[in-house]
Amino acid sequence: MSGTLKKASNYIDIPDEEIIEKIKEHKERLKEKLLILGHHYQRLENVKLADYLGDSYELSKRASEHAECDFILFCGVHFMAESARILAQANQRVFLPNMAAGCPMADMASLPEVEEAWDVVSTAVPNETIIPITYMNSDARIKAFCGRHGGLVCTSSNAQSAFKWAFERGQKIFFFPDEHLGRNTANAMSIPRDAIALWDPKEEMGCLSKQEIERARIVLWSGSCHVHTFFQKEHVELARKQYPDCTVVVHPECPEQIVKAADCNGSTSYIVKLVEAAAPGSTIVIGTEINLIQRLALDHPELTIVPLARSLCPNMYKTSIRDILVCLDNLGEVDEIIVPDEVAADAKLALDRMLMVQ
Ligand code: SF4
Repeated sequence: MSGTLKKASNYIDIPDEEIIEKIKEHKERLKEKLLILGHHYQRLENVKLADYLGDSYELSKRASEHAECDFILFCGVHFMAESARILAQANQRVFLPNMAAGCPMADMASLPEVEEAWDVVSTAVPNETIIPITYMNSDARIKAFCGRHGGLVCTSSNAQSAFKWAFERGQKIFFFPDEHLGRNTANAMSIPRDAIALWDPKEEMGCLSKQEIERARIVLWSGSCHVHTFFQKEHVELARKQYPDCTVVVHPECPEQIVKAADCNGSTSYIVKLVEAAAPGSTIVIGTEINLIQRLALDHPELTIVPLARSLCPNMYKTSIRDILVCLDNLGEVDEIIVPDEVAADAKLALDRMLMVQ
């Protein structure tokens, strides 16, 4: 079969319009058997072909709701398609049109590192219950670890609810892998600074003393998203100078000083809703991935929408319309996401808890 597979290079000379027509023909042929999910950070042409557009939380919910489709094409990055695979029915097949589209932040916490850290922290506080929480942006094995240890997955939309859920069940939270979402959530919950510890996986004992671990209510993993840590306080100051009446909204993956300098912060869907609700003539300066901002600006000519700075996720950008067509032309033969059963079962526990906690 592999000899007959088509590759993206087979389509290099075909104009974009023709590629899009061919994808639409597949959609027409497969009807409800095919579901195309598109993340907000995808290229505009991919978004236009998606049945649903959303953030990672909304799209994984969609994947769990469409039992009638046979094939789910996830235009996003690897951890998102993995989560869709775990939440989908066993007979459904999930594909990532470009398998090279990963997430550097998700790669910052590996299972051996997390297990080692867990042992150290648990040993330091033997009489406390620690609840592990992982951000959606993590490997399936980290989600499974959280499921096995009584924890859950959270997204930027429900991080505070997830933290509250955990504090009803234990004294401490160990949060992976995004330091900034964890810190901004802790700040919003008025957790004192000295009760937040940062675990550095490259250092002995995470670079923490036993006392620091004992004092901490939240231990944060030292990971981050380069797209959101790119923003500087100076970007906010410059935006305010240029647009004195603007509203500055940023994603909570940004460092705390950016979140504090902004007028508000929230998940991707929060940002989209804020734009949709804005009064005509308003100016909104947004600190998140550039593809989403550019699309919002196109969709809302009645507003002035400005990026805080231009920050693109190269992994989200990897998926092209040619990748989507290759995937559809070879459906079932390429780019399928497989999660081992034992990992999927534990990860599903943690994801199901996430879907329950709002
Ligand atoms: S925007 Fe950041 S967290 Fe999202 S996929 Fe890209 S690198 Fe990962």
